[in-house]
Amino acid sequence: MSRKRDFRRLFRGLRFRLTISYAVLFTVLLTGVALAFRARLATKLDDQLQEELNADWAAMKGYMRIEPVLEFGNKICSAWYYDDKDPDETTIVLDTRKIYMVADQYGNPIPDSVTGKPAVSTTYDDVGVDKPADIRKKVMEATASPKPKIFWEERKTSDGEPVRIRGGIVYSERHGAPYYVAVGASYADNVKTLRDYTWVFAAVIPGALILGSLLGYYMAGRALTPVLAVAQAAQRISGSNLSMRIPTRGAGDELDTLILTFNRMIERLEASFQQMRQFSADVSHELRTPITAIRGQLEVALFTAQTTDQYREAMFNALTDIDRLSQIVRALLLLSQAESGQIVLQKSRLNLCEVVDDLVEQFQIPAEAAGVRLTAELPAECSAEADRVQIERMITNLLSNALKFTPEGGAVKMSLQVHPSFVELAVEDNGRGIPTEHLPHIFDRFYRVPGQGTAPTPEQGLGLGLSFVAWIVKAHNGKIEVESTPGKGTRFLIRLPNAGAGSDTMDLAGGVA
Ligand code: ADP
Repeated sequence: MSRKRDFRRLFRGLRFRLTISYAVLFTVLLTGVALAFRARLATKLDDQLQEELNADWAAMKGYMRIEPVLEFGNKICSAWYYDDKDPDETTIVLDTRKIYMVADQYGNPIPDSVTGKPAVSTTYDDVGVDKPADIRKKVMEATASPKPKIFWEERKTSDGEPVRIRGGIVYSERHGAPYYVAVGASYADNVKTLRDYTWVFAAVIPGALILGSLLGYYMAGRALTPVLAVAQAAQRISGSNLSMRIPTRGAGDELDTLILTFNRMIERLEASFQQMRQFSADVSHELRTPITAIRGQLEVALFTAQTTDQYREAMFNALTDIDRLSQIVRALLLLSQAESGQIVLQKSRLNLCEVVDDLVEQFQIPAEAAGVRLTAELPAECSAEADRVQIERMITNLLSNALKFTPEGGAVKMSLQVHPSFVELAVEDNGRGIPTEHLPHIFDRFYRVPGQGTAPTPEQGLGLGLSFVAWIVKAHNGKIEVESTPGKGTRFLIRLPNAGAGSDTMDLAGGVA
């Protein structure tokens, strides 16, 4: 069973598939090259044969006369004139006479000047002498043609040897009559050469293929080894050892890029794991405090309270803690919905001046109650492409923080400024300020600047307001900054894309500060 699975894995594996593709490509390429080469060789051999036959025909024409011969009663004969002492000439003529024929214009072979028999070689006889009617047709065709005409034919001897015949017209020097002269040559050697070539390739291709495939398999294996190493390293990484990284090989190749990408992904995963861990730790801590308090109040009611007033007080305190608990749960739910993308912004062109003006108006009563002067400095017009509910939530959070952390007699100022590509909203107070070391953390969930007692009081808030503000700014492609001097005051500065300008023209890269 497992062996079967091993086989299946082998065949499905990248290494196997690479080798197969490589082998197929190799076969196609080799066969293609072999066939092209064979075709080229065949043409070359054929051209050579034709050239040889043309040369033979020209030589034959040169050495031969067609004229009346006395011994044969002045019959027109074909006579060969060559120096039989010259070995070269003899070889050429004897070679030519192996396959040849000479016929008159009526298609009848004329006699040989030596033997008196028809000038047709025995081999020509064997391959089949042309019929007189055929020769007549050829002669007519050639004499009608303005250019010298060549006739090619393929024949076979009784032994199956292939012969090519080249025919043409020769005019008698004496009386100008046309004669059909043909020479032939066997090309069995050419056929054999081509056959040998085919056999060699038929033997070489499978051998090369097997060798090439083995080499391909080995090379694919070598190339894939680092991939397997990466996969094994990746397998070892789990939630508990996310700090592990896959070592790069320093080759700077695609695989290193893959490893780097993979490592970056693990880094991001580690960060979100860490965030999740921190979040659950924070949440359980935050929930534990009011739950312990409620338990305490209920124990008081159960074990020590005696009068109705004592019961009422214990119940009242428990209820206050339950309120805080549900406040935390609500805020957390909202924040997690926001951060997981479940809150979809309902953006519209928003008159920010109007929104800020309304909210400052609403906050006048608590500001007066706290003895803080709340003012607004607004331009004539200021708009942004934004979600009204979220922008109101953001300003409310900032304003309530400013009022909360500004002592009696202080001042809180809201201002709006319009720039070509962004609008700037500032909330400034001259309250207690935030120590520099806490500034980087104030946007974290549940983060409250310590120093005002250990246990959080309802006035102190949940430490979630600024996290929400940060999310709202980010969701609007904006940027938030904070400047603060302990004892002197704090200033939150928010930049949002101007509704009038294209958002891509605004340089607010960086999101939340
Ligand atoms: P909270 O709900 O406690 O106000 P936030 O997330 O809104 O939580 O703020 C985080 C912490 O930042 C606050 O607990 C407070 O210590 C500090 N903070 C925020 N705004 C101001 C401000 N205007 N002046 C001084 N401290 C501030």
